Amino acid sequence: MEVVLGVPFGYDASNEVKKLLEDFRNMVNFCIDYAYRRRVTSYARLRKGVYDEWKRRWNYSTHFCHSACKIALAILKGHRRKHKDDKPEARKLFMQLDPQLYRFYGDKIRISVKPREFLYIDLKYGEYQRKFIDAWREGKLKTGEITMNETKIVISFKKEVDLSNPKDWIAIDINESNVTAVSSNPHILKIETDLRTIHTTYFNIIRNVQRLRKFKPKTAKRLLKKYSGRRRRKVADECHKIARNIVEFAEEHRMGIIMEDLRGIRKRIGYGRRLNRRLHSWNFRKLQFYIEYKARLNGLPVIYVNPKGTSSLCPVCGGKLAPNGHRLVSCECGYENDRDVIACLNMLRMRGAPLPLKALHEPLTVEVRGRDENL
Ligand SMILES: [Zn+2]
Repeated sequence: MEVVLGVPFGYDASNEVKKLLEDFRNMVNFCIDYAYRRRVTSYARLRKGVYDEWKRRWNYSTHFCHSACKIALAILKGHRRKHKDDKPEARKLFMQLDPQLYRFYGDKIRISVKPREFLYIDLKYGEYQRKFIDAWREGKLKTGEITMNETKIVISFKKEVDLSNPKDWIAIDINESNVTAVSSNPHILKIETDLRTIHTTYFNIIRNVQRLRKFKPKTAKRLLKKYSGRRRRKVADECHKIARNIVEFAEEHRMGIIMEDLRGIRKRIGYGRRLNRRLHSWNFRKLQFYIEYKARLNGLPVIYVNPKGTSSLCPVCGGKLAPNGHRLVSCECGYENDRDVIACLNMLRMRGAPLPLKALHEPLTVEVRGRDENL
C-alpha cells in the first residue's frame, strides 16, 4: 500500500514565480470558462477542447495545461456541489504541478516552465522537513505532485508500506486525564496528560475575558484572540507529545493500533451541557488524528472499533462489571482491573487480537513514559 503525506516548505517567491502563479490562475480561469460554457465535465474533452487556444496564449510546457484542466474541473465540481449555478472563478494564487514538471533536489526544486527553461526555488525547512529530505536521499521516499502558493510549497512524499496484518496490536483508550494503551505482547502504557488542566485553565480565562466584552470590547477582542490561540497551540503540542510516545512504542514492536470510533461520543455520554462543552473542546478526535497520522507515517495499520460496552463488560466472561473502588471495576467471575485497562482489553478482544492472557490475572508491566519537552 502507498502512503502519501504532504509536507509544507517555506520559500520566497521571486517575481518570476509570482508571474508564473498569476499565469497559472489565468489558465485555470480560461479552462473554467471553456468548461462552463460548453458544460464539459470530462478531463479528456476539456483538455482536447482548450489545448490549441491554450498553446497560442501561453506556450508553457504542456503539463501546465493538464494541471490547469484538472483544477478547473475540481473547482467546477465543488461549485456544483454547493448547488450554485453561476460561473466560479479561481481567485487565490495557487498551482499544482505533476512530477513531470519539477525536480526535487532536497533543499531546492527546479520547475520546468518551457522546454529548456527552468525556475530554481530554494526551500526553507526545519527539523520536521529535514526528516523527509533525509529519507528521500536514502531512497526510502519518492516525491509526487506539489502544490504551491505565494508563501509555501507542499511537496507530497510517497512511501510503500506493508500494512499486512501485524502479529501484535495495541489498543488505546483516551479519557479525561490519561491515555491508556494495552498491547497484546503484553505491555501497559499509561500517559498522564495535561489536557484537562489546559482546558480548565483556558476555559476560565476565556470566560472572564468574555465578561469584559461589555465594558471594553476592543481589549476583550484582542485578549480573546490571544488566549484562544495560546490554548490551541498548547492542546496541539500536548497531543503531539502523547501521540509520539504511543506511536514510537508501537513502532518498536511493530504493532497495529486500535482505537475507539468516537464519532458519537458526545451523544452517548449525556453528562449534561457543562461536561459536553468540555468534552467538545478537549478534542479526542484531534489526539486520535495525530496518532493515526504518525502511525501511518511509520507504516503501522490503524483500525477503529465500536466502543459500545468496552468499559462495562468483562473481557474474560463477558459479564457485567461493577465499580469497585476508585478506578477499579470487578466482575462476578472474580476478574478485576483498572477500568481503562479493561476498555483496552475489550478493544483487543473485539479485533480478535491475541489477548494478553497472562496479564489478565497478574499485573502487567507498567511503563510510564514522561512527556519530553522538545517537540
Ligand atoms: Zn467476568
